[in-house]
Amino acid sequence: MRLVILGGGESGVGTAILGKKKGYEVFVSDFGKIKGNYKEVLIINGISWEEEKHTEELILNAAVVMKSPGIPDKSPIVKKLKERGIPVISEIEFAAPFTKASIIGITGSNGKTTTTMLTHHLLKSAGLNVGLGGNIGKSFAWQIADNKYDSYVLELSSFQLDGIIDFKPHIAIITNISPDHLDRYEYKYENYIDSKFRITMNQTEDDYLIYDADDEAICNWFKTHTTKAKLIPFSLTKIFSEGAYIKNNKMEIKISQEEFTMDTEHIALEGKHNMKNAMAATSVAKLMQIRKATIRESLSNFQGVEHRLEKVLKIQNVQYINDSKATNVNATFFALDSMNTPTVWIVGGVDKGNDYNELMSLVREKVKAIICLGVDNKKIIDVFGNVVDMMIEVDNMNDAVRMAQRLTEKGDSVLLSPACASFDLFENYEDRGNQFKQAVKNL
Ligand code: ADP
Repeated sequence: MRLVILGGGESGVGTAILGKKKGYEVFVSDFGKIKGNYKEVLIINGISWEEEKHTEELILNAAVVMKSPGIPDKSPIVKKLKERGIPVISEIEFAAPFTKASIIGITGSNGKTTTTMLTHHLLKSAGLNVGLGGNIGKSFAWQIADNKYDSYVLELSSFQLDGIIDFKPHIAIITNISPDHLDRYEYKYENYIDSKFRITMNQTEDDYLIYDADDEAICNWFKTHTTKAKLIPFSLTKIFSEGAYIKNNKMEIKISQEEFTMDTEHIALEGKHNMKNAMAATSVAKLMQIRKATIRESLSNFQGVEHRLEKVLKIQNVQYINDSKATNVNATFFALDSMNTPTVWIVGGVDKGNDYNELMSLVREKVKAIICLGVDNKKIIDVFGNVVDMMIEVDNMNDAVRMAQRLTEKGDSVLLSPACASFDLFENYEDRGNQFKQAVKNL
């Protein structure tokens, strides 16, 4: 069987290793350059590959093709494969049949990484032999080739889910849905929503779907669709006989006649959005029958993930917070919502069709000054120009942080939560967050 892999990155090379181990004739083709360390792995394992081209004779003869998530469906080579009826699948679809491990799959527009890391932390701290994969760290396929774990917590993007046929997680989470990546979905929000719900399409009565019951797109989907999975909703405002919710400053989880309760103030993560992430992850822990005391301890010591509302330093009683991962309005909404001091807000970058009006009331309430950090800041200036006392444009992180410091008084906060992608001025969101942290340390 010929397995062709498009894209020689983490998921591509991982799939190649697994395919080779399972007896496939493997070929990796990358239209860009393959990184040196990955090339080495391919060579050591005797896997053939090409880069900076897609040679059709070597690709269109595949029995099955694994497409890396970064390659859009509209790329010419993918179109040709589909015209010929050759299955084009994602890494998780290829890899899952080769393991008996139970799979927890986590998708959503925001909160995937945080919820995935927290879920993994809860299970691992309880002593389970659990792997972490998907969009995070080492590829899922690669880990299966190494055959190490009894269960996996996987962060799944909609692109991974677009390439599934039979894949089914035993436990699925949809953290929330808001418009994102619409360029890959013919600018139709419904298509993107449907893509997220593919996570449950193969689930059976023995499986679970945990979801945000406050989310409009999710609730609307349920009006016209069904799933076989058992439903476990979570909410900040509603209460359920089976599900997770907040009542009198306590997080309560009720699953299969069992109840778990914890004071929200003892949960280390902060902000309403993180209470949602905590409810989702704790529901998994309950389903996996982790002991209450262990769950409590893990929730109280999980410090969050870098670049997500990360507290950097307090200087002259001003708290600096790095939320560089906030690349859309919804993420920034929750960041501003969680601020409880006057805030100097650093925002801007490459806008993916943002509607900033959603932030208006929070900005009025909490933001004393705005620092625009982007090549084109017109939209932000148009929307908030008359709303805050002070608005400044800068084109590098050092200036942004120095300006922010000048505008603060004791007790204020400085929040980098850009609501935009980073690639106008930075390599990626990590680079942006790291530059922020360095600039703060240099103050
Ligand atoms: P993802 O992996 O889906 O991008 P992350 O956990 O990396 O999610 O968080 C991305 C951004 O969204 C961060 O700015 C974070 O503070 C914010 N965020 C995290 N969880 C949620 C949530 N449940 N709802 C809205 N925003 C969230």
